[in-house]
Amino acid sequence: MIKPDAVAEGHTGAIIQQIEKAGYKIIALTKLQMSPAQAAEFYAVHQARPFFQSLCDFMTMGEIIPMILEKENAVEDFRKLIGSTNPADAAEGTIRKNFAKSIEANAIHGSDSDENAAIEGAFFFPGV
Ligand code: ADP
Ligand code: MG
Repeated sequence: MIKPDAVAEGHTGAIIQQIEKAGYKIIALTKLQMSPAQAAEFYAVHQARPFFQSLCDFMTMGEIIPMILEKENAVEDFRKLIGSTNPADAAEGTIRKNFAKSIEANAIHGSDSDENAAIEGAFFFPGV
């Protein structure tokens, strides 16, 4: 999912190009603005964290681009491609190093397991 900061700043094309160059096939893609309820559901795992409300506000401030991506070892390799949560710690050349503004406005989301990839994919693309 390309987050609202990166969509608003016009980094969509560059980010998708980096994803495709890394060998990912785009299976599904859309653009939408999440409601507060959707953001709270998507990030329910973080609801006890101090940054939860701020994260939900940020994620609903503009349009996002959710995608279902396909590749061998997709989840683990995508986490490497996007880099650390905090762009200050992200490796050179990663999407977050290239485009993230802060630990919150960090340009892109990647699922952290095959199980969560299936849940998150179905969240945005039911039936795909
Ligand atoms: P990741 O997206 O790398 O899997 P997490 O699952 O830990 O990171 O956190 C989810 C999202 O919450 C992050 O991508 C970021 O947008 C936000 N976030 C995480 N930690 C913080 C923090 N300490 N302060 C503000 N926002 C945070
Ligand atoms: Mg996470």
